[in-house]
Amino acid sequence: MYQSDERARPAAETTDPHLECVDRELEAIWIERCVSPRCQSDRLRDALSVSCPYSIAGTEREFHLRFTYCEDCGLGFVNPRPSADVLAAFYRSDYPYHGSARRAFGYGRIKLRIASWRHRHIVSGGLGGAVLGWAASAIEKTCGRDVSYSLGVPLALSGDATMLDFGCGNGAWLIGMRRVGYSRLYGFALDNTAGRLSCLQSLGITVLSAEDVLRAASETFDVVRLEHVFEHLLDPSRTLREIMQLLRPGGWLVMTMPSIYPWLPIDKLKNLPALPHLQLPIHLTHHSIRSLSDFVLHEGYEIRGLKLITQYRYLTIAAMRPAAL
Ligand SMILES: [Zn+2]
Repeated sequence: MYQSDERARPAAETTDPHLECVDRELEAIWIERCVSPRCQSDRLRDALSVSCPYSIAGTEREFHLRFTYCEDCGLGFVNPRPSADVLAAFYRSDYPYHGSARRAFGYGRIKLRIASWRHRHIVSGGLGGAVLGWAASAIEKTCGRDVSYSLGVPLALSGDATMLDFGCGNGAWLIGMRRVGYSRLYGFALDNTAGRLSCLQSLGITVLSAEDVLRAASETFDVVRLEHVFEHLLDPSRTLREIMQLLRPGGWLVMTMPSIYPWLPIDKLKNLPALPHLQLPIHLTHHSIRSLSDFVLHEGYEIRGLKLITQYRYLTIAAMRPAAL
């Protein structure tokens, strides 16, 4: 997707008035302080400088960026922040969505039940739940499984729980949840997969538009799930605030996302063979445990679980809207 480019902060100059106009429209925002609302440190280090080609309005262009690392909170982020128009140009039809019903629910019903047991103590507490959770955790470790909170917590909720898959991609997770018995399911930002909308609707799953989400009654959902979505958001703090309003008091925000840890130590980033997995500039942020915690706490959530998934070093988090705000 990109090539190494040691040129930094290029000022695209042109005498073509049309392109000058495009340049102004596509103006990106350079970031001088850490974007974490609780950190805002100026101890930033540019770990990588790359040039990402894209096409907009029929014109081939390049987005020059740095991958910047905060030495205080460990957040890595794209710098400058691209405009929404430029970012949209990088989302092509072949962008891989990490999901299929078989993949999301490829554990089998027995393993899904174990994942539910493991996370039930987070949802409902109590000594019995803790014992069940400990036993299920031991089984999963023995089998080499490490289930994310964004799957385990919804599975631990009752069958009448109201769930929103925020950034539902092709809707595979919703279809899987329908198959295991959940019925009050909603999806937002369904991709353009042909026929999938009618498939979801035939299963009784409601697909929301952006306007629907804005108009949705507050305190509607028992759980809102973001699976590999948070790293794509231009304004993650704003999205966290909006989701807080959608959740009922005591409702759950569950998220899973790539972390900064596969790219550490940051000094060796340039030479990593897995560099394309950074997905620049589409993945705008790569969180550490501290930076993700800071974002979520800053917006008033209570964190009940935050861990690295061993196999992929993804971060997964379970946070709650406080019962009384
Ligand atoms: Zn920071």
